[in-house]
Amino acid sequence: MEDMVEPSAATAFIRDFANTVDVEDRTDKLATRAGLDTWLRDNGLPTGEASEPILTLRAGLRERLLLNNNGDADTDLIAAAEHVLRGVPLYARLGTDPVPDDPLLAETALARVARDWAVTVASGEWIRLKQCPDHACLWVFWDGSRSRTRRWCTMRVCGNRAKTRAYTARHREPAQADLSLAKAA
Ligand SMILES: [Zn+2]
Repeated sequence: MEDMVEPSAATAFIRDFANTVDVEDRTDKLATRAGLDTWLRDNGLPTGEASEPILTLRAGLRERLLLNNNGDADTDLIAAAEHVLRGVPLYARLGTDPVPDDPLLAETALARVARDWAVTVASGEWIRLKQCPDHACLWVFWDGSRSRTRRWCTMRVCGNRAKTRAYTARHREPAQADLSLAKAA
């Protein structure tokens, strides 16, 4: 299915942050100190930030995105994430450029998520950001369809799985980088 609309950089960041844990593959990019620091560095953020609040925020965000998909979300996890957000320093700046640029400074991962979530809500993109309700999947996807009615991350697999309760199989295509690695190997 071809996406009609692409997410902004802020919304893509929120999606990718939510997907740092992969339920189906049982992997979590942020599970170790080294993994978290790599992710922080890759996103232009200072390394060394405490892991627990980041994981709490991610868990709540993922529930929120399940709610976006009319899923049965755990509101306790959302509340815990909001508790984390209350302590996040987020600085606004006026700037001196003719056109204001980046009015909110986000110097930590928590602040970056807070800012980009705010952008995602303000732009209305939140409605297209959803967690797949398939319990074996729970992948967060961008619904770029014109009708915004996609429920499953991939209709081909999760949708069919829901209909037929067919067998859990690997279904997401490997990322582009993985493909090139596989070819190089
Ligand atoms: Zn799915």
